[in-house]
Amino acid sequence: MFDKDNQEAIELMVDLHNDVNDDALKLISEYYLDITNPIGTKITDISEKEISLVINVSDKKIDRVIKFPQEAKDSNEVSTFFYTFLNQARNKAPKNYPKTRIENLIEKTLNLKTYITKVTGKRTISSNILEITFEGGLEDLPDLGNDAFVYFIVHQEIEHNYPEGFKMQNFRDLGNTEKNPYSAAYYTIRNFRENAIDVWFVLHDHPGPLAVWSEKVVEGCEVAFWGPRTTFTPPKKTKEYLFIGDETAQPAVLASIENLANKENYKCFFETQDETTRFNYDDDRNKIDWIYRKKQAAGEGTELIKKIENLEIDTSALYVFGAGEAKQISAIRKIFKNKYGLKSDQMSFTGYWRKTK
Ligand SMILES: Cc1cc2nc3c(=O)[nH]c(=O)nc-3n(C[C@H](O)[C@H](O)[C@H](O)COP(=O)(O)OP(=O)(O)OC[C@H]3O[C@@H](n4cnc5c(N)ncnc54)[C@H](O)[C@@H]3O)c2cc1C
Repeated sequence: MFDKDNQEAIELMVDLHNDVNDDALKLISEYYLDITNPIGTKITDISEKEISLVINVSDKKIDRVIKFPQEAKDSNEVSTFFYTFLNQARNKAPKNYPKTRIENLIEKTLNLKTYITKVTGKRTISSNILEITFEGGLEDLPDLGNDAFVYFIVHQEIEHNYPEGFKMQNFRDLGNTEKNPYSAAYYTIRNFRENAIDVWFVLHDHPGPLAVWSEKVVEGCEVAFWGPRTTFTPPKKTKEYLFIGDETAQPAVLASIENLANKENYKCFFETQDETTRFNYDDDRNKIDWIYRKKQAAGEGTELIKKIENLEIDTSALYVFGAGEAKQISAIRKIFKNKYGLKSDQMSFTGYWRKTK
């Protein structure tokens, strides 16, 4: 049996594949399982040994199981096996078979660069958000705007000098072991300037290596990051925007609304702890609705979901961007899909972090 942590991560993975990666499941059904004309495929279960699927074909449902080559140790290994099956299906598919969302995302990572830059400033945004400014070494960092995010690779020694030519691949090669002195996580570019960026680091309970690093780091320290990428992709016909985010997603939301051509047509739901973690933002048109968790822990707030369940919205030309704790975001995505009937291209929901303690 997977432990509780891995079980939860796998449940989220199943939700995501069933909701968002239906095109990848179709490819696997057609060219890994050799099912002719599958209409829809859903994962029904993932165990250490196999993935179980139900596939709709014209008038019936077929149950199929794909066995792993060996028992999966954890959710990461399940993911790796899933990509292997997808790859094998791709190799058998005709050349003109359209790329799936996952494949497009992977393709986007192939040409990303690793940048080495320096901390040049720190500023308090709220009692749990710290802004860090990075300058230098970013001459050719592209300005993607919106929710552009990068993967920060920090060293356990704060005053570490990265080896000449250090790359993401060097970090990957060190593997996920205790011997690897680096830790990494995704962060959003809050402000982009020439050869400089600002990033907002959320300080949280049970701080991990990145939160600890952000508190300790001082001006002059080096850091590496890999990127950037974005997920904010509203369809052209969008007239209304709805943004939903906890503290980790607020930089992405603010950067995205500052990029909107017509600032009138948006609304934000910002979940935060309380008055002390709320920050000043020029919101004179009252577009931001702040929701306090109060005594509830980050990732366990219930007020935001209540709000989302009781919206009066016209969804015809709506695009929703939401990010935050993975289980919360998964629950919110389901409400938009099942209750409000949003199509998958009208929503971008991402679990930015996963509550484990
Ligand atoms: C595309 C993307 C963009 C992101 N942008 C930002 C950003 O701009 N700013 C930002 O602060 N984060 C952002 N995040 C989230 C950030 O990557 C995670 O919070 C990450 O887990 C932090 O790493 P850590 O080393 O501090 O904690 P970890 O080692 O990952 O976790 C340690 C413990 O802290 C808990 N934890 C992690 N994050 C939080 C949190 N925010 N609140 C409460 N508990 C937490 C975990 O459940 C775990 O128990 C983004 C994530 C993604 C995927």
